[in-house]
Amino acid sequence: MKPAGPIPPDYAADADGRLLIAGQPYDALIEAAGQTPLFVYDSGAVARRIARLRAAMPGIDIHYAMKANPHAGLLARIAAQVDGIDIASAGELRIAEAAGIMGDRISFAGPGKRDAELEAAILAGVTINLESETEAERALAIAARLGVRPRLAVRVNPDFELRGSGMRMGGGARPFGVDAARAVPLVRRLVDAGADWRGFHIYAGSQSLDAAALIEAQAAGIALAAALAEAAEASPPLVNLGGGFGIPYFSGDVALDVEAIGAALVEAVAARPAVLGDARFALELGRWLVGEAGVYLTRIVDRKTSHDQLFLITDGGLHHQLAASGNFGTVVRRNYPLAIAGRIGAPATEVATVCGCLCTPLDRLGDQLALPEAQVGDVVALFCAGAYGASASPAAFLAQGAAAELLV
Ligand SMILES: *Cc1c(COP(=O)(O)O)cnc(C)c1O
Repeated sequence: MKPAGPIPPDYAADADGRLLIAGQPYDALIEAAGQTPLFVYDSGAVARRIARLRAAMPGIDIHYAMKANPHAGLLARIAAQVDGIDIASAGELRIAEAAGIMGDRISFAGPGKRDAELEAAILAGVTINLESETEAERALAIAARLGVRPRLAVRVNPDFELRGSGMRMGGGARPFGVDAARAVPLVRRLVDAGADWRGFHIYAGSQSLDAAALIEAQAAGIALAAALAEAAEASPPLVNLGGGFGIPYFSGDVALDVEAIGAALVEAVAARPAVLGDARFALELGRWLVGEAGVYLTRIVDRKTSHDQLFLITDGGLHHQLAASGNFGTVVRRNYPLAIAGRIGAPATEVATVCGCLCTPLDRLGDQLALPEAQVGDVVALFCAGAYGASASPAAFLAQGAAAELLV
């Protein structure tokens, strides 16, 4: 038997043990969507997280990194509650514009921005977080050709990294950003070229559950921005400190103390060096805002035994929820939180491995879990499916079709 991760606090059950998502029974939601597999996103759960962050860190801007979940309806609701949207491609820019988000509220990070993407972003008034000197020259040339003053920030690859972070994106040799040691001449180049220099973007890692490490990285980011600004003799309008806030996926994971992080950040910003006196500070978060707000519902289509082990085979799988299968940035496969949606609170009476419908041994949604008895037709709820789910999974693999998505 292997443990499952903790079910997020937003979910409840009715007297019959049916899972309630935003107060609505799971089976009614499936009926409304017309099918399983189905992702349900609870916009109220996202709003509660945004409100909690606002209260924890007054004065700090909050951005949403939409690559975590680009669902159009969800994006539009989030955009109404945050200060900025971070995109990572021109495709995301189109989705954001279709959701009614103005370019001046958007910033664009990501290596390998093509000329057409830079052009679309510059025309839309998007702030481009430059990843290299060569990208900077391309952006300046495109802006000159268009006759537009581009909004450009410098993404810095810091010399520190986020301790204990699930995915390292700073420190040492990286494809992201400009090494801190080379950032000053680049800022000078942008300022001297007459660009609208928007400041720094410093992103050190992702999926951290260590508040002390995040506090340390944020303080180091502020110190780095100050040192670079001093050396470049230019005060940044914005210092984007990245994010990296993780959520508990696995047994033993403990949720982040965002109040402690917020208090330390507010204090560090209040004590900032004079060169950052006019700067605003932003955090850009994806997973922490939306991850726990999504549930993936998939129906059991077969129940079978092999060598004394019980398998529940579902109509979903890694083609929708790659991360839960353990094949998206994890070294050791562990179980995401999972439940039988019609039997919440029922005692576990058997040990089952929950698989998807793909013909590959990789397609495992839950391994050797203690569960109440589940039969063909019952529904499995896989939690923590709101970030890096539908859009981060190989939906075309085996032509099983896309999952439905429902916003509540
Ligand atoms: C992916 C990414 C994020 C969001 O990361 P989360 O772990 O989802 O919070 C933020 N900023 C940048 C630059 C990213 O690439």
